[in-house]
Amino acid sequence: MSIRVLPPDVAARIAAGEVIERPASVVKELVENALDAGATRIAVELVGGGLESIQVSDDGCGIQREEMEVAFARHATSKLDDSEDLSRILTLGFRGEALPSVAAVAEVEVISRPSGAEGAAYLRLLPETPSQTGTRSGPPGTSITVRRLFARQPARRKFLRSPTSEAGAAAAVVTHYALAYPHVRFSLSLDRRQTLRTTGSGDLRDAVMAVYGADVAGVLLPVDHREGDLAARGLVSPPDVSRSNRGYISLFVNRRWVQNRRLVYAIESAYEGLLMTGRRPIAVLDIKAPYEEVDVNVHPAKAEVRFRDESAAFSLLQKAVRAALLEMAPVAAAAPSPFRLQTQPVTAPLWRHALDVELRQPREQARGQPEDGRATPAQTLPVLRVIGQFGNIYIIAEGPGGMYLIDQHAAHERVLYERFCQLRAERRPEVQGLLQAVTVEVPPRQLSLVGQEAEALSEHGFQIEPFGENAYLLRSLPVSLSSTDAARSFLEFLDVMLEEEAGDRRDRVAMALACHNAVRAGKTLALEEMRELIRQLEESEAPNTCPHGRPTMVHMSAELLAREFGRR
Ligand code: ADP
Ligand code: MG
Repeated sequence: MSIRVLPPDVAARIAAGEVIERPASVVKELVENALDAGATRIAVELVGGGLESIQVSDDGCGIQREEMEVAFARHATSKLDDSEDLSRILTLGFRGEALPSVAAVAEVEVISRPSGAEGAAYLRLLPETPSQTGTRSGPPGTSITVRRLFARQPARRKFLRSPTSEAGAAAAVVTHYALAYPHVRFSLSLDRRQTLRTTGSGDLRDAVMAVYGADVAGVLLPVDHREGDLAARGLVSPPDVSRSNRGYISLFVNRRWVQNRRLVYAIESAYEGLLMTGRRPIAVLDIKAPYEEVDVNVHPAKAEVRFRDESAAFSLLQKAVRAALLEMAPVAAAAPSPFRLQTQPVTAPLWRHALDVELRQPREQARGQPEDGRATPAQTLPVLRVIGQFGNIYIIAEGPGGMYLIDQHAAHERVLYERFCQLRAERRPEVQGLLQAVTVEVPPRQLSLVGQEAEALSEHGFQIEPFGENAYLLRSLPVSLSSTDAARSFLEFLDVMLEEEAGDRRDRVAMALACHNAVRAGKTLALEEMRELIRQLEESEAPNTCPHGRPTMVHMSAELLAREFGRR
């Protein structure tokens, strides 16, 4: 076969295939053009998943009547002058390929009126037919309608999915641009039903509210972080709000929506230790980079960008998100539990101060203090990241401004104590009935203890009745005690309880249950177990002390470490 240069219309259709793959590609190109034209309002309407028609209308700068046809010529653009400009692309479009590509595979109608022009110019392009021009009335701006997409490319059509999923892909394009351009008022209608409308207020949270709803918008944490000449801004979810897929991670580079696995991973990695496996965060983040630092001309549909230094972008995102998480209000503020009195966000410095005060108290003094499980607001914990275990006793974690050593037994005691108190307060102790009631001989000291604490014992799930002089009949136990030898575990429990200090407002039974069930010092914990414990500790009301008032953790501030290492 001899080599021939393809006729222009064939070449155009081949090239168009790269740019226009599906209705969503048309929507993307037309919305980008509208944004480049400085629009403050963009309306997108799809019928039949975009295969019947796609219309994008804007209030941007419009196209001059005499330039209407040239806009549809290949490589015709108003956005680039010379190759110099290619290294500094400020607009979303620059290739001059979108309009001719669309016209190669569909019927196109344009109505455009630059501000100040008399009427609107009209242009209609049908494949293999001379174009029609004319004048119409209409507001300033541009409206482009694309009909019968791929009607003459059956091979293309075969690769499309159902109209519903094509509409979904197109909607994803619109929502992403709505998130990237919160000061633009977007609306989207599918088969004449409005499915999205943003306010154009300029506030990202408003745009997120329109896209993901008020629940999500209300809890997202602000990100604003600069490193060198790169900056990351936007919103990310707190650890207790997550999704099962990555579809809620939207990443933009200079407001261009990009799909970049590595950078998405950078965002996810900031949540390490904070999300359950398989859960993904919600993120809307824009990287601001000097235009010469990124190459946007690497993909026909401009869906990728290349960073001159991608590892800098990676580290920027990771640190930006991490900083937002560490600064966040404690978990409590995002997820109020019925158990919690204070749900006010607490700032880290205040909390650190409280912790310092706590640690300066000698142990004995702390021990004797009244403590009823109610925390002062300054005691709420921030998010901690577990690093590992030391000596099978302490969990090492990092948090705002430093390192934390957490006593695993004391921390677990705190968590369990609050849980048992809560179950009691709600009158729903976790009880196991015994198949047969058991008679237990109780030694004198324990006997008086049972007498004193009879009410609390029964509220925690011990069903006991006096049985003669120095014995009790045991009918049920809390599930946290072993029932295989019920009499023995009851007596052991009473021994633990004897050790607990009496005489203040603390719940002695709950303290004994917590102590009895808490993980012992000396036990090796898996990373996941440590994370779970820390998560529960973050949720507790008084995370800084065990029920006896001893500290659950020691904080070594970054400043302290720097001093110790002679760094300052
Ligand atoms: P590119 O966006 O890469 O320049 P396009 O083929 O998408 O190429 O558009 C060609 C030209 O048509 C643009 O450079 C712009 O001048 C003009 N244009 C397209 N759409 C609009 C619009 N909605 N408003 C104003 N001008 C437009
Ligand atoms: Mg364009």
